[in-house]
Amino acid sequence: MSEKRIDPEDGQAYTWDELSEYYAGKYKKKALAAYWEECTVVKKKGKAKAKTKAEPKGKAKAEPKAKVKAKAKAKSKPRVAGPFKVCVCGGAGGIGQPLSMLMATDPNVKELCVFDLSVAMVPPAGVAADLSHLEKPVKVTGYVMEVGKNPIDHLEECLTGCDLVLIPAGMPRKPGMTRDDLFKVNADIAKGLVEACAKYCPNAMLALIVNPVNSIVPAMAELYKKKELDPSKIVGVTTLDCVRANKFVGEITGKNPKFINIPVIGGHAGITIMPVFSQDKAGASIDADKIPDLDKKVQDAGTEVVNAKGGKGSATLSMAYAGARLGSSILAGLAGRKRVECAYVKSDVSDLPYFTSKVVFGPGGINKILPVGKLNEYEEKRLEEAKAQLKSEIETGIKYAESNNLA
Ligand code: NAD
Repeated sequence: MSEKRIDPEDGQAYTWDELSEYYAGKYKKKALAAYWEECTVVKKKGKAKAKTKAEPKGKAKAEPKAKVKAKAKAKSKPRVAGPFKVCVCGGAGGIGQPLSMLMATDPNVKELCVFDLSVAMVPPAGVAADLSHLEKPVKVTGYVMEVGKNPIDHLEECLTGCDLVLIPAGMPRKPGMTRDDLFKVNADIAKGLVEACAKYCPNAMLALIVNPVNSIVPAMAELYKKKELDPSKIVGVTTLDCVRANKFVGEITGKNPKFINIPVIGGHAGITIMPVFSQDKAGASIDADKIPDLDKKVQDAGTEVVNAKGGKGSATLSMAYAGARLGSSILAGLAGRKRVECAYVKSDVSDLPYFTSKVVFGPGGINKILPVGKLNEYEEKRLEEAKAQLKSEIETGIKYAESNNLA
């Protein structure tokens, strides 16, 4: 079937084959066929239009099960502002601004809080005023705090009622700096914010973007545990590694990255970033001798951006895109539409207490953490290397939690 139809998810045109490949595993074939019926046909001139339009309509009538119809209906129902309140901490920064913009356009977001310090490059109230003019139903409010003050004393209104708090607040890497160099300063920033979340929105999902994710997430999750809160509310954002792996595989194979889904497991720094190319059709088609370089390219992609920006920031735009993808998946999950994303979480899928793997987000947050799955010989070796490095970075975080407490 060469006819193309517009997928309302992203407004782009796809053939039936492309769409079914993309949604494989997410929807059963019948549900997908019904969804196809809801997609607008790309208009062609002349006879072809009438012919191609008539054919699948008959197919839709043949859909027998109410369940299948309900599923497809839920997928295609008109989008209205959802019921969720979201806060972006560090929302006036390099990542924070575009991330706030993307979250403001998510139909599941009813209220968006942009929080930052008084020294931020733009006052958060300005970012909020700017975003409040988008023709979206979301309400956007800015919150500011003086440097050196404690978030727990200032964020009651901002955080109360939040369902999702995205945290890009912190220092970015400068050229020559590793993510570990950043640990102490950023862990203290994250602790202040997580402490305020523990008090005002303990049931919210917290998505930590601030680096080094490999150590900060265990530190904050262990602090949550010490306070008898649920450590699985804390998620490390590693989505950018998947986004980059999909893009690079797309460039090599000539396939649309939208239909590529490379899981990236392990952690989120250097060799702990482990793309599993063999688990995706396009990735698996790449010659084995090209994989080590491609693997390295994904690992070093963040450094490539840091260097290209010449000390004036790290990956902000692609990170905002990736952070919003994860944020939107978490919200879709909370709204009852399960989504699978790779994320760095407290986990028992490996012999390490924190690990990035595929996570099913659903009502309540993390619904399920999926196993690593089948690896080839190269990937088995890489996994051992990644785990050895990740282990010591997790220990750094756990030590921090041992010597600190949330108020
Ligand atoms: P940035 O300096 O442009 O923005 C950071 C913002 O955080 C600033 O506006 C700053 O005022 C704010 N901030 C600092 N302390 C705060 C606090 N206590 N409360 C509220 N806001 C505070 O930096 P950036 O480029 O946006 O990067 C932010 C973080 O994200 C860095 O740690 C960076 O390393 C990390 N990062 C992560 C990924 C990832 O894939 N997870 C990718 C790129 C960057």
